[in-house]
Amino acid sequence: MGGMKAPEDLLRRIRQGNRFLLTSHVNPDGDAIGSELGLARLLRGLGKGAVVWNHDPTPALYRPLPGSERIHVGEEPPAGFPDMFDAVIVLECPSPDRTGLEKQLAERPVINIDHHLGNQCYGVINWVDSAAPAVGEMVYRLAQGLKVSLEPEVASCLYLTLVTDTGGFRFSNATAAAFEAAATLVREGAHPEQVSQWLYESQPLAVVRLLGEMLQTLQTHEAGRVATGRLTREMFARVGASPGDSEGLIDHLRSIAGVDAVALIRELEDGSHKVSLRSRGEVDVEKIARHHGGGGHRNAAGFTLKGDGEEIRGQVAAALGAALG
Ligand code: 5GP
Ligand code: MN
Repeated sequence: MGGMKAPEDLLRRIRQGNRFLLTSHVNPDGDAIGSELGLARLLRGLGKGAVVWNHDPTPALYRPLPGSERIHVGEEPPAGFPDMFDAVIVLECPSPDRTGLEKQLAERPVINIDHHLGNQCYGVINWVDSAAPAVGEMVYRLAQGLKVSLEPEVASCLYLTLVTDTGGFRFSNATAAAFEAAATLVREGAHPEQVSQWLYESQPLAVVRLLGEMLQTLQTHEAGRVATGRLTREMFARVGASPGDSEGLIDHLRSIAGVDAVALIRELEDGSHKVSLRSRGEVDVEKIARHHGGGGHRNAAGFTLKGDGEEIRGQVAAALGAALG
C-alpha cells in the first residue's frame, strides 16, 4: 500500500498495552465505525482487550457490521474505565471535543489516528496522514506494522471504510492508493458483495421513508447548481426513524444533474440544526463549515447552527452560491 508506514512509537505503545478504549467522532460515519470495529477485533486477535465507546448510537446503516452490537454508547463510561485501560485510541477525529466525550476521556493518554487536514494533534501520539483515503486504510497499515494478518471480518470492516469515504470509489479521493488498498483488503478476505449488501440493501423501512420526507423539501438554487434539503424532528417521528438514520441521504441531493454543491439541514434533538455540505471538484465547502465552527474536507464538511431551519437553508444556499466561483 502506498502511504507511510505506521510510526514506531505507535507500534511500541500498542505492543506494550493490554487494554485499549477506542472512540471516534459524534455522528459516527462508515470510516469511524469500520475503523473502530476493525481495530478492536485486530487488537483482540493480539490477545489484548479492546472496547469501543461512542457518544452517539451506531447509524442503522452500519449496524450489520460484525461487532457493532458490542459498541458502548452514551456519556456513561463502560465498565472498568478509566482504571483498567492503558490508552484511548481516537480514530478519524480532528479534535478531542468532536468525540463528545472529551471530559471523560481526559483521564487516559490519547493515541490520535486520523486523516483530516485540520487535525489538532491532541494526542501523546499523533499519526495524521491527510493523503490516506480513509482512516481504515491507516488501520490496515498499522496491522502490517504489527505483522498481524487480518481476519476476513476485519478486512471487510476496513474495506467498508474505503467504500464509504470515497462514496463507493466515486469521489476525488478515489485515488490509485484507494484502489490498491481495496484490492489488498479483498485479497486478505474482505467480501465486497457482503459490504455492498450491508450498505445498500439493509436499510430499515423507516430510512427509505425518511428519504421520501427529505425529497419533499428539495429545492434548487443558483440556476440549479445548488440543491438543499431539510429534515425536521417531526419527519423523523412520522416515519419512526432514529437520529443517526439520515446518514447517506445527502447523496441523493448530489445525484442531480448540474448540481455542484448541496446542503442537508437536519434538526437535532435540542432544536439546533446540523448542516451537512457536499460539493464537486474545486468547490470548497470546508471553508464554509470552518467559518461556522465546523470542519471536514474540501468536498464534504459540516457544522451545527442554532436558528430557524428555513432561514438557515437560505443562508447556506447563498454561501454555497458564493463558493461556486
Ligand atoms: P457529515 O456531513 O457526513 O456529518 O460530515 C461530513 C464531513 O464533515 C466529515 O468529514 C465530518 O467529519 C465533517 N464534519 C461534519 N460536521 C462537523 C462539525 O461540526 N465539525 C467538524 N470539525 N467537522 C465536521
Ligand atoms: Mn474518514
